[in-house]
Amino acid sequence: MMPPRTGDPRAAEPAFAAKGAQTESVIAGIDLGGTKMAVCLASESRVIARHRAAVPKSGAESAVTEAMIALVSDSCMSLGIEPASLAAIGVSACGPFEGARGQLASAAPNLCGGLTADSVLPNRWMRIPLEAPLRDRFRTADIVIANDAQSALLAEHRFGALRGASHGAYLTWSTGIGVGLMLDNRLVRGKAGNAGHAGHSMVAASGSHRPRCGCGNDGDVESLAGGAALAHAWGNDTVALFEAFRRGDHRASGLVESALDAVSDLLYNLFVTLDLERIAIGGGLFCGQSDLLLPALRRRLFESGRYPGMQGMLAGTRVVAVSDPSRTAEMGALCLVLPQDWQPHWSDKFSANHDSVIAA
Ligand SMILES: [Zn+2]
Repeated sequence: MMPPRTGDPRAAEPAFAAKGAQTESVIAGIDLGGTKMAVCLASESRVIARHRAAVPKSGAESAVTEAMIALVSDSCMSLGIEPASLAAIGVSACGPFEGARGQLASAAPNLCGGLTADSVLPNRWMRIPLEAPLRDRFRTADIVIANDAQSALLAEHRFGALRGASHGAYLTWSTGIGVGLMLDNRLVRGKAGNAGHAGHSMVAASGSHRPRCGCGNDGDVESLAGGAALAHAWGNDTVALFEAFRRGDHRASGLVESALDAVSDLLYNLFVTLDLERIAIGGGLFCGQSDLLLPALRRRLFESGRYPGMQGMLAGTRVVAVSDPSRTAEMGALCLVLPQDWQPHWSDKFSANHDSVIAA
């Protein structure tokens, strides 16, 4: 038997083309995070079910994918849908990925305890097989897997803050920092689907402050600005850090200004490296403090004189906040496989479609 066709998520238009009785087709979007997984089922015009579950942290390497398959199957059965009849499945997962197309696995440090000697996770997994078990179980479905920043980029491009931008990036500023990239209306994937791990790129750290990142680098962007790194440096969570910053605390100011410098440098590097027209920023840390962070980044990029070079490439570019942070992850997973001819039904729902049938 021929394996199901591998979707190509590089195209802004999804690989999956609605087939047969479109009005009855159901697709699934799976968002696999570090602690929880979420599944939503969607028909042509709306989300028809949402379910969540904790991500297993122990057992065999296949435990996570087995839990994912069970969650999708249970969601289908709760609506009387045969799981094998799903038309397509989009999986937005934390990376990095390993393996060839058709056999993609996640080697995410926040899930796989075997990757580092000092991991606190209760497993010694080296990788989580994703694509092969899903294809084995859902034989009739097109399956497209991308990392969470890449899928969020697709959602913002089709429905949100990057609509109309042919050359753009999505930057998530959260516990970690990740980027999704689009050039010429195509998602940039890279040789193993890992394009956009720009949080681990190096910038000129101010002074001698070069903390160690979880990836092993000293002084990369995530080590200077990621939420986990900031909380570690501050000694409390980032909400407390930003409260202190807003009060004018000297040490908090040093950390936040250094983080802003690092993210601003990363944005500048993306603009001049890739000739982008727009970058949208999301992520929990950023969205919780966007009133402060967005103007501060714009000042650095466009007004401060921090980057006297390449001003011609920055002219006319924009840095914006995501349109609907509460739905970026779900819509990202769905957008990996949402048929183009369904799009008109969804265009006005990105910030208003809360018609959940099944609560978590
Ligand atoms: Zn790093």
